[in-house]
Amino acid sequence: MDLPLLIFTDLDGTLLDHQTYSFEGAGQTLRRLRECSIPLILTSSKTRAEILKLQERLGLNDPFIAENGGGIFFPPGHALSDVAGAIPFNGHRGVVLGKPYAVIRAIFANLKRKFHVRGFGDMTVDEIMQHTGLNREAAALAAQRDFTEPFLFPAEELPEEVEKAAADAGLAVTRGGRFHHLMGAGQDKGRAVAETVRLFQEKTREQIITVGLGDAPNDFSMLQAVAIPVLLPGPDGTFADLDIHRLRRAPFPGSRGWGMIVARILDEVAQQRCDDGNAGPRNTTGSAPNR
Ligand SMILES: [Mg+2]
Repeated sequence: MDLPLLIFTDLDGTLLDHQTYSFEGAGQTLRRLRECSIPLILTSSKTRAEILKLQERLGLNDPFIAENGGGIFFPPGHALSDVAGAIPFNGHRGVVLGKPYAVIRAIFANLKRKFHVRGFGDMTVDEIMQHTGLNREAAALAAQRDFTEPFLFPAEELPEEVEKAAADAGLAVTRGGRFHHLMGAGQDKGRAVAETVRLFQEKTREQIITVGLGDAPNDFSMLQAVAIPVLLPGPDGTFADLDIHRLRRAPFPGSRGWGMIVARILDEVAQQRCDDGNAGPRNTTGSAPNR
């Protein structure tokens, strides 16, 4: 990469606006990132299929992290796709950190016998649409799961016995919005971010400055794993409860706040080098120079 900068970002409520899923407010800054060939690593609880669709809309051709750190995926031909540990994965190459969905579902089947839980794998696309508010196409992409099972429990509090049963099977449960998520124990965004940084670092042999942006508790491990953590406010302007060293708070929620604070960071860290004419075609990361 031309600039020693890697940006990891959550999607919903961070790069994408609440409700509308628009990234319009970040348009100018996204263009700047492209011009400076700075990798933007989408780091989400969304599935591989959902993120690929979004990368297309954003015009991105960078690695990404799917399903809360379940896997790191590389676009075809990306220089990192041949790193040790990367395997072919449904037309991509990736480093798998989570447990296979079939394993998660088998353990979920045991939970279903004891508790009133209902997972994505038990739902039709219509039901997923109804519970998530996603349109049909998006719901179908969300149903294509590799590592995690979102599920509903018909009460506000999930009984401790469910978490205990998951832990006994080597899994963990996290809460994300109205869904709980069953996934491999020790899997989180932070671990996947640290691994991605290590891979880039190994390839470029350059000290990389890392930035992370998120808005919710499942982003905290990612924010703890980067040099410049950024927290975005919710739609009502309040921030999730996080207090870590060097934390920055974006001035607005969603894409507008994202665009402003990333632009500021670029000014501070990278713009000088970009302006100095170091912005030739990227060759060390191997991403398409014409993205
Ligand atoms: Mg979010």
